[in-house]
Amino acid sequence: MKNILWVCLLLSGNILAKEPLKVLIVTGQNNHNWQASSVILQKYLNESGVFKADVAVSPAKGEDMSAFRPDFSAYKAVVLDYNGAAWADATNAAFLDYVKKGGGVVVYHAADNAFPNWKEYNEIIGLGGWDGRDETHGDYVYFSDGKEVRDNTPGIGGSHGKQHEYTVTARRKKHPIMKGLPDKWTHAQDELYDRLRGPAVNMTILATAYSDKATGGTGRDEPVLMAIHWGKGRVFHTVLGHVGDESRHLAVECAGFIHTFLRGTEWAATGKVTLKMPADFPKK
Ligand code: ZN
Repeated sequence: MKNILWVCLLLSGNILAKEPLKVLIVTGQNNHNWQASSVILQKYLNESGVFKADVAVSPAKGEDMSAFRPDFSAYKAVVLDYNGAAWADATNAAFLDYVKKGGGVVVYHAADNAFPNWKEYNEIIGLGGWDGRDETHGDYVYFSDGKEVRDNTPGIGGSHGKQHEYTVTARRKKHPIMKGLPDKWTHAQDELYDRLRGPAVNMTILATAYSDKATGGTGRDEPVLMAIHWGKGRVFHTVLGHVGDESRHLAVECAGFIHTFLRGTEWAATGKVTLKMPADFPKK
């Protein structure tokens, strides 16, 4: 009897044990320190107990890209830590097919600088900046008096003032990524992207941060966390997390960055968030 009970317990344990969600970090070219950021993001994902993360490293800048063909379809979410040369047509097609069929995407920091003239990529990221982006790429989207504003005045897309600590304000408290997070929290020293432009279709701004003119900003509440639907795919876009050549990477060491990144990745992968808020999540 005892033996049968043990077998039953083992079997039920196996059935209940959750398989980790497979995540692929795509990196290898960036105007940032991708050698550091990709390792840091992989560590966070793998230590969360929810994900198993692999890293796909592209050829270096200037090298032949034709053989770079990550198998997106083998993953529940793809984290984009890439801002570099165009992918091969077959890779672009495989990526769009993956998202169209329901694959999750996480757009991390300068990934929203990439591929300025790839129409579908701009739709997937919702908003982007730099590399020649302007009003022809879409509206400048920001918050004013607590409401979303879409501004088609001609101008550049993408800028930031000097790095500083800033307050992040939650705008969609009921979204799975935001549920349980404070109304406002202090984010560690980081860049604060502003004047991002794009198609912004099926896009929900989850959180904003005030871009103070005193630090070289716009004087507006700029989007910092976004959720986008494209095809059957879910996209989480975080502009947070600058990683440069400094010895400390304060922006990604902040529990506010780590936890929103992990929650956003889980939502992109499954549509739900099971991760609990850590005790060290920052307050205002
Ligand atoms: Zn940056």
